[in-house]
Parts: sequence; C-alpha cells; structure tokens
Amino acid sequence: MRDFSKDRSALALNTATLGHNLEGQGAGWSPEQVIDACAARGYGGIVFWRRELGTRAFEIGYRVRAAGMEVAGLCRTPYLTGREAGSDDEIRASIDLAAELGAPSLTIVTGGTEPGTLGLEDSRKRLTERVAHHAEYAVQTGIKLALEPLNPMFGGNRTCLFTVRDALEICREIDAPNVGIAIDVYHVWWDRTLPAAIKESTGRIFGFHLCDWLEDTSHMLLDRGMMGDGVADLKSLRRAVEDAGYKGPCEVEIFSADNWWKRPPDEVLGIIVERFQTVC
Ligand code: ZN
Repeated sequence: MRDFSKDRSALALNTATLGHNLEGQGAGWSPEQVIDACAARGYGGIVFWRRELGTRAFEIGYRVRAAGMEVAGLCRTPYLTGREAGSDDEIRASIDLAAELGAPSLTIVTGGTEPGTLGLEDSRKRLTERVAHHAEYAVQTGIKLALEPLNPMFGGNRTCLFTVRDALEICREIDAPNVGIAIDVYHVWWDRTLPAAIKESTGRIFGFHLCDWLEDTSHMLLDRGMMGDGVADLKSLRRAVEDAGYKGPCEVEIFSADNWWKRPPDEVLGIIVERFQTVC
C-alpha cells in the first residue's frame, strides 16, 4: 500500500468538492484559481466537470500540466440509459472533450431505468450496447471509460449499476481494454462482497473516489462527509484497490451543500491534504 504520509502526488481534487458543479454553490472559483491553489498545496491532479470547461478544455488541461499536475479525469458522460439519456452525438462530444482536456478517463454514471420498462434487465442490456458502441470510438481518442456504480438509493433515475460486481459484469461482457470501473467509497463502502469483487477487477479499476459516509446522512446527494468524519473504512478500501493493482489518483469528491461548500476553498483544500495524509 502506498505511503501517503509525506507524498501527495496521488491526491486529486474533483472540483465538485468546491461546489462547482451546481449553479450558485461554492465560492465560484475559476478553473485557473482552482489549479493554482491545488498546485500550491502539492496536489497531484484535478478532475473537472464538463460544464466548467466550455470551449476551453485544451487551455485548461495545458494549464494543469504547466502547473506540474495532471488532469486525473473528466466527469462525466451524459446518461446512457433512462428518461434523461443523452444522444450518441452528445456522448461522443463528451469523449472528445476528455481527449481535448488530456484526461485519461471519462466517468460514466449510467442513468436510470429505461422508459417503459420495469426492473433492471432491459436497462442493463441497453447500457451494455451503448458502452460497447462508444468504447470503440473512445479507444481511438485514447480515452478510458470508467463505469461508476452508485448506492442503490440512486436507482430509478440515476443508475442501473449498484455494486462493483454489477459494473464488472458489464466490463466482462464488453471485454474492451478501455472499459473499466470507477470505485467511489461513498457508493460502495457498505457492500460486504466488495473485497472479492475488487479482487476480480484487477486491471479494470480506472478510478478511486474518496469522501466518507456520515453516520447521520441528511441528504443522499449533497451530504457527503470529509474523509475521517464518517464510518467508511477508507484505508481497507484503498488497500483492496491497490492490492488489485490500482496505482492511480485518489480523487476527493465531496458533495456537501450545507458544510464543505459553505467554507472558503482554501480551508477545504488544506483539510483535504491533512486527512489524505492521515486517514486515507
Ligand atoms: Zn464518484
């Protein structure tokens, strides 16, 4: 297991942690301000959301690398299933954006249950077809697609993948080298079959997302905890992921409308560093 006590190079900020992915939330820092603040604190990378980039993906990616960091990923494709699924053109555009930014991977939050269907089977079938289709395009642009399972409470409108094993089954079915899994501790910490599923995912883990599950979560989407403030066994999870060969960034992704998004970004970024080096 990597020793993070003195080394921050694996620490990546997902800009959602500063409230940037939702209108009117957070301090409203520009990508440039975020880049400079992360570089000053020795972060190794940043993960952006599409809406922050506009037409400046190349410029922003360049600036990250010029500051001595890497773009650790891009969040995310439009949904592939469910009522709000994106078109093929929209999904392809998100792959192009990731390539322009110089991101190694693009996260997929799948979207919910297909309209007119019940349960999950039709949705999973549709998801598999669409991921396989877009993976062929993504591989030409050097982009990996990372399927992120979500907590079962997000079933219906946001996801049809609930566990790492669910995601692994889709990966196996598609069997493309650029289709893998993003493991977010918020979504999967509760799963007792997780260690076995992670072990079987060797070579397919493309992302590892950090935050914590608060003992008394007040809002499913917007009350994530800072690492160390909750009940997820973060070190064990990281050990399992690293035992399965993962050596990539650890991406701090904290949606927190009533706590962390209300604090000055400088304070949040400082506390992240301290927690990353002690409790993760
Ligand atoms: Zn995540």
